[in-house]
Amino acid sequence: MPDSAPTPAPAGLPRAALAPTALTPAALARAGGEITLERLTKRYADTSAVEDVSLTIRPGEFMTLLGPSGSGKTTTLNAIAGFVTPTSGRLLIDGVAVDNVPPHRRDIGMVFQHYALFPHMTVAENIAFPLKQRKVARGRRAELVGAALATVRLPGFERRYPHELSGGQQQRVAVARSIVYAPRVMLMDEPLGALDKKLRDWLQLEIKRIHDELGTTFVYVTHDQDEALVLSDRVAVFNHGRIQQVGTPGELYERPSTLFVAQFLGDSTVLRGQVNRNGSGGAGGGSDGGSTLGKCGRILRAPGSLDGAGPTDGAIVVRPERLAVHGNGGAPDGADWNTLPAVVEREIYLGSSRKLELRLPDGDPALVREQAGRLADVRPGDQVTLAWRVADSVLLTDDPDVEAALT
Ligand code: ADP
Repeated sequence: MPDSAPTPAPAGLPRAALAPTALTPAALARAGGEITLERLTKRYADTSAVEDVSLTIRPGEFMTLLGPSGSGKTTTLNAIAGFVTPTSGRLLIDGVAVDNVPPHRRDIGMVFQHYALFPHMTVAENIAFPLKQRKVARGRRAELVGAALATVRLPGFERRYPHELSGGQQQRVAVARSIVYAPRVMLMDEPLGALDKKLRDWLQLEIKRIHDELGTTFVYVTHDQDEALVLSDRVAVFNHGRIQQVGTPGELYERPSTLFVAQFLGDSTVLRGQVNRNGSGGAGGGSDGGSTLGKCGRILRAPGSLDGAGPTDGAIVVRPERLAVHGNGGAPDGADWNTLPAVVEREIYLGSSRKLELRLPDGDPALVREQAGRLADVRPGDQVTLAWRVADSVLLTDDPDVEAALT
């Protein structure tokens, strides 16, 4: 994003934060490093923090490690940083094993949730600190500090002390301090976790912009699925110390490979039951023959099939915007559609859309999201028909642990 068209700031941020700047972030740009985790495992006495994690993070990529609390994200990040020694497995940066390289020699920058600025140093002194450690000459230091402050849009803040800054400004100084020596890899552990939502939303876009401008490889830890979707080129979803799926935000949302991923990223309706594979040419969806699942006396169809020969415990997952409700008849039917009866329990207006919470005859919940201007004429208490395309059914193996992991 060019400096002349900055992201709009929330009210209350100084104009200086938005001013076009003479110093360009180009001074800090550097080709990003490639990070390879090979079967990384970290065990503590009675806990397996990370178990058999393999992942390649491409040069210049924005990779987010996403998962619930305790799923192994921070341990993985700290292993990349060198603060945690793996129990087994290998870690390579640009193809070179770094297991015996101490953190300060790994060419990485790091930003934590708590800003960890030196309180007795000015902003400029804080940002210059890593340059001093690296014995960068004084004149060059001033140039680089200026470029780092321009990159985080805080020019003119050099002489302030941390206590004279808001939380968001302190975090931007922490980012400036990490990018000022142009590391090839930037690690961020919930950097926006301590900030209010409006500021967080804005700083998310700022972090994305900084990533795009610098070309550095970013590895970002969060438990916030929306943040992961906004920021990332790809996301690695963690649960119980293992990676469940790695993919672009679109792949994870549209084609989750496990029930955990489907439920952790976004809302969905989960229809559990016995899944049967159709023979080719059967009544299932798509040319692959598809599968069927019995639910509330109906046969639901989905493309694809689950592993295993006989009937298997499984689920059809449908995103709320793919479901439609029909009040008085008019629901589509035919081989391309699934339908179920339901009762509307609650409607929630969200301005640009409406959510409907429904109950199926067997007591299971369902969720529909409709765009404003295209709302069905139904209200709480109404008997309706839910309809969705067979192609929008995602077939997944049942996982009884999913609910426990999500609460
Ligand atoms: P996350 O970042 O996803 O919240 P962590 O990587 O911090 O998860 O932790 C993963 C698991 O490892 C948790 O069960 C945590 O309690 C455990 N763990 C992390 N660090 C230590 C440690 N130093 N000693 C013992 N257990 C730890």
